Amino acid sequence: MSPIQLFDPASSTFTYILFDADSREAVIIDPVDHQLSRDLQVLREHGLRLVWAIETHAHADHITSAGLLAEHAGARTAAPEGCQIGTAAVQLTDGQRLPFGSQQLHCLYTPGHTAGSMSYFWETRGPHGPARHVFTGDTLLINGCGRTDFQSGNAEALYRSLTQVLFALPEDTTVWPGHDYQGRTHSSIGQEKRGNARLAGQTPEQFVNTMNQLNLPKPQRIDEAVPANLTSGLRHDAGGEALLSVKPAAGYAGDVSPQLAWAWVQAGQAVLVDVRTDAERAWVGFVPDAQPLAWKQWPGMAMNPDFDAGIQALGADGRKLVLLCRSGVRSVAAAQRATELGLQAYNILEGFEGDPDAAAQRGKLGGWRFHGLPWRQS
Ligand code: FE
Repeated sequence: MSPIQLFDPASSTFTYILFDADSREAVIIDPVDHQLSRDLQVLREHGLRLVWAIETHAHADHITSAGLLAEHAGARTAAPEGCQIGTAAVQLTDGQRLPFGSQQLHCLYTPGHTAGSMSYFWETRGPHGPARHVFTGDTLLINGCGRTDFQSGNAEALYRSLTQVLFALPEDTTVWPGHDYQGRTHSSIGQEKRGNARLAGQTPEQFVNTMNQLNLPKPQRIDEAVPANLTSGLRHDAGGEALLSVKPAAGYAGDVSPQLAWAWVQAGQAVLVDVRTDAERAWVGFVPDAQPLAWKQWPGMAMNPDFDAGIQALGADGRKLVLLCRSGVRSVAAAQRATELGLQAYNILEGFEGDPDAAAQRGKLGGWRFHGLPWRQS
């Protein structure tokens, strides 16, 4: 059994569909947003039920359709835990196995192209014995490897991943890369070990030097693709293009979606401040990465006398502040106050729970939890 290999000419990206012949359960690796209908068609033609949509890393050159595949095909999303794709339902770690039917995909942590990058190993039983496949993303390419000069890349780490993790696989393992720009489709571990131009006969120092002197142009879509991919590509969803843009507001830096706020926090660009009361965090739930700083406090919703000092301390390093409350009302007042204090403060639209619906139930019309961003109950 071989994977189905699909190609996106615009970004030269390979997408792979793997399936279990008996149960028809399938996995898709590195799906591309504008190929969604093609991918759904392939799944239909083969009578497959998609159970996993997974990424090798947070891509800079295309936007994933993983979030959309979860909506349309019922797949669960999974991504390497080091990639900070907070919307992925399962955060993958080294050695983890992802089951589909009677098959398993083995996660291999292969950092270097990005700090979180993973490869996936698949061993199938055929009539002539086992067949082995490895999906290497941008870690190992045919006669090459992914760049390491942006997005948390690290040439030393890549050298270790290539030589100690991937080249430790059996030589007959088929290599299925994340891209190819010259019409090639696959290779093998043996072939790459012997002939890969970046590695063969190179010392670790020579490899690192080469990687650090590539001087490649920045990928065309990086500014758009990376933030979108940190939310499983859901920038097309619901709010459409507006989802990842700042809306102007009076008296503070602007309004942002929960998804954009989370992308900023994950990129280290913003501090997430929860301005709800201690009681709301305890009873309704909280975001583990948020700093608690109540705007008003029970009992009686009196102003928190420590708010000014607290917010100044949180904004002291010059990062943006993104303020979260229940439904995006208190956080406006708090953002205006923070702005008066000279800070760059944004209000998170919809808040943690969103507005109440017709039955006075919150949480169904939007908000942090509704959009599947990380939260916990104490
Ligand atoms: Fe990449």
